[in-house]
Amino acid sequence: MKFSIHNIFEEFDSIRETSLPSAIVKYKDILPLLSKHKKNKNIRIKAAGKSVNGKVIYSVTVGKGALQVLAWSQMHGDESTATRAFFDFLNFIEKKETNKLTSELLDKITLTFIPMLNPDGAEKQTRYNAIGIDINRDAMDLVSPESEILDRIFREIQPGFSLNLHDQDGWYSVENSGKPTSVSFLATTPDLYQTKTAARKKAMSVIGKTFSALSEIIPGHIARYSDAFEPRAFGDNFAAKDSSVILIEAGRWKDDENNEFIRKIYFTTFTAALLTIASEKYPLSSVKIYEQIPKNNEMMLDLILRNVLLRDKYNVDIGIKRFPVYDKRRNKTVYEGKIETLGDLSVYSAFEEYDMNGYSLYPGEKEKHNREIEFTEEYYFDLVKKGITTLEHVDLSFEKNDFNEIPLNLIRAGCDFSQDVYPGNFANFYLKNRNGETDYIVVNGFLVNIISNDISVINAIRI
Ligand SMILES: [Zn+2]
Repeated sequence: MKFSIHNIFEEFDSIRETSLPSAIVKYKDILPLLSKHKKNKNIRIKAAGKSVNGKVIYSVTVGKGALQVLAWSQMHGDESTATRAFFDFLNFIEKKETNKLTSELLDKITLTFIPMLNPDGAEKQTRYNAIGIDINRDAMDLVSPESEILDRIFREIQPGFSLNLHDQDGWYSVENSGKPTSVSFLATTPDLYQTKTAARKKAMSVIGKTFSALSEIIPGHIARYSDAFEPRAFGDNFAAKDSSVILIEAGRWKDDENNEFIRKIYFTTFTAALLTIASEKYPLSSVKIYEQIPKNNEMMLDLILRNVLLRDKYNVDIGIKRFPVYDKRRNKTVYEGKIETLGDLSVYSAFEEYDMNGYSLYPGEKEKHNREIEFTEEYYFDLVKKGITTLEHVDLSFEKNDFNEIPLNLIRAGCDFSQDVYPGNFANFYLKNRNGETDYIVVNGFLVNIISNDISVINAIRI
């Protein structure tokens, strides 16, 4: 089945599901979409069972081909990219119902998709289900009702292909290229010995072809996921039952607000993989391409400041990671910026890197505040020029562990909040040039360029 990856990629903007603008996708967000698509007789939506907390989990089936494909998303509740891309895909096939490519695809395959296998985890924005089980470590015991649903549907349809759809941590690069991984693939192993069964070779071939096509759009940003065997995972179990299992992990793209570009890439990848499966041609030449896909390497950081002088005499690089944390009250993602590592970081790369040769680094200062703070820009820059990264407030009422919207940390007076520059601590420090002026400050792992009045702080810390 011949297709142009560029056409699919470009089609995205016209079919994008506009009701899912955020990377936080919860059960209530997908219910109206299921109702909308239920009106189409070619989209069969069924209740497949209930989550621990009693939410109905649905399966969506399209196509009438002999080749059975099973896919599921958000088995980890905070990994929404595949769910969003699936609803984009439903819009795509509805819009293109009469299109030759789409009708051929749906003649060849029957796709059963479980969008949001873990609605309770999605509600809490966590990987785990309501009782704290990682569903992808429950394939043998089937303790969770969500696991039972996936296992039962697999046994019912006996899919030739299984698509296991996730989001990986945001700090992978493609081998040591310094380029962040945007998509990674794995032809999941059926056993400890990474045996290349016939089913696995088919998965490898489909990935090899999809990789080649996708490389026209995001060259150098695609990697091969670790093939270590995990006996408790669904993919590995389905592979052992001779399904061709393809893991697709969404990664990251620089400055990608709400993961929108990654979502577009993921939609393109998913659609291209289905079209490749439907071609029923799985040549060995594409298996070889699969085997040459560079490895997914966890060597990315969010921010690296290179060649700074630490404690007035040590020349080091400082590496920072910003850990996403779900802010329930505001239903948004905020960050905890921490020093991940320091020293020789020549083997790491980062989304933002600066050469700070000639700068000396000092731990951030604290200042006491008793009054309501009026944050004019002038006042702010007066504070940060003095190296102040954190305000200690005596009488401010705020929720504990809440995050600050102003670009300074806010802590209760006397609170133990170390600003020591050391791995594991929050990244709060300032950088002085050779004339002793503070040109840069880092607040909660975000850089403020004082010379150009450029504040990049998304959120600071409140404790
Ligand atoms: Zn996952």
